[in-house]
Amino acid sequence: MPKKIKRQDALDYHSEGRPGKIEVIPTKPSNSQRDLSIAYSPGVADPCLAISNNKDDVFKYTAKGNLVAVISNGTAVLGLGDIGPEASKPVMEGKGVLFKIFADIDVFDLELNAKDPELFIQTVKALEPTFGGINLEDISAPECFEIEQRLKEQLDIPIMHDDQHGTAIITAAALLNSLELVDKNIEDVRVVFNGAGASAISCAKLYISCGVKPENLIMCDSKGVISKSRTNLTEEKKQFIADTNFETLEDAIKDADVFVGLSKGGVVSQKMVKSMAKNPVVFALANPDPEISYKEATSARKDIIMATGRSDNPNQVNNVLGFPFIFRGALDVRAKKINEEMKLAAVHAIAELAKEPVPEIVNMAYNQDNMQFGKDYIIPKPFDPRLIYKVSPAVAKAAMDSGVARIHIEDWDSYKEELIS
Ligand code: NAP
Ligand code: MG
Repeated sequence: MPKKIKRQDALDYHSEGRPGKIEVIPTKPSNSQRDLSIAYSPGVADPCLAISNNKDDVFKYTAKGNLVAVISNGTAVLGLGDIGPEASKPVMEGKGVLFKIFADIDVFDLELNAKDPELFIQTVKALEPTFGGINLEDISAPECFEIEQRLKEQLDIPIMHDDQHGTAIITAAALLNSLELVDKNIEDVRVVFNGAGASAISCAKLYISCGVKPENLIMCDSKGVISKSRTNLTEEKKQFIADTNFETLEDAIKDADVFVGLSKGGVVSQKMVKSMAKNPVVFALANPDPEISYKEATSARKDIIMATGRSDNPNQVNNVLGFPFIFRGALDVRAKKINEEMKLAAVHAIAELAKEPVPEIVNMAYNQDNMQFGKDYIIPKPFDPRLIYKVSPAVAKAAMDSGVARIHIEDWDSYKEELIS
């Protein structure tokens, strides 16, 4: 079980040596006068001219193709809320570290003083020439929906708001595997969401793409069930108006097969969990405190499959299982976007990987003897070295098949070798 991190240790980690967690390292020789006259003036003019003749050469002569911008305005940082762009910078640098160590993707973290969606959109739009992809991060709802939607329409590079879609992809994989374990059909299950924010809305949409029937889905926000009797709903919430007389979560969760909490800690009771259908699936994902703790939920009933956002419980839903590998695949085929097909390919690749035998190195990394597909292992672990060569090729192939790839991979075996090395 991971030890609790002390506050002072976290502060020291960030401030010791050169402050922060990242630096920029040149990738070409830069030791001699000759090197410098090529790296900069006058030699650099040649690649400049080549790109000016053929814009696509920017991928050939610059770092663009492997460079992702992690961009936030600091309005919904972790569970800390609207703490501002400067205060979000440690998180964005951290995300850069994860991109690098898991998928060898370089990141510039950009913290924008731009709460106004219009300013945010125009700023990001103007940054397109620099980057191969854009990861939006920790932007509050409902602004995040409009920001991502409009940027997706206007940019020709992959863009993903990870708080929405990363979570949706990982939990959709967890959902498919949980339902397989309890032998239920996705078309038949009743799903109840608590929370109707950035992550819940995206999860609900992806679960529907995976087979959940819209009429079997009920969503609650802080005022209760989103139903016809509600007024003043945002456009996103309106898509999930349920035809029901239920008003509270307590009513809605009764006999539900699946509960997904993306709301607030401690709002689900043992009584509510007990009222769910046989073999219930409970994803209590509020961070750092889930809607109901793992201990409380699993002691309320034995037939439950449970996931949380916490690393000290089994089945941690951790976005790092997705975003590094999704962007790797998208960049490697120079995809114009990250579309539904690519997201679904990632869902299935992650779900399938959990069903394969776990290598010894993964057991060791998590101090386990024999992890295997089952209630306590429904999704792979973040340090599984197979993720990169399972998820990235699946995403790249889906980009090619759905017509958004600008280059095509033909030799999949050598692509896999490249990913491993
Ligand atoms: P968000 O956009 O702020 O949405 C929060 C939603 O929760 C809102 O719809 C809000 O209702 C609702 N809510 C608040 N209190 C509630 C209550 N008592 N009952 C029902 N609904 C309530 O936040 P988010 O980014 O979606 O994240 C939500 C939570 O999930 C956070 O704790 C976050 O840390 C966690 N999360 C975890 C993971 C993970 O484990 N990997 C991933 C993503 C998010 P209103 O709309 O009425 O305000
Ligand atoms: Mg985030």
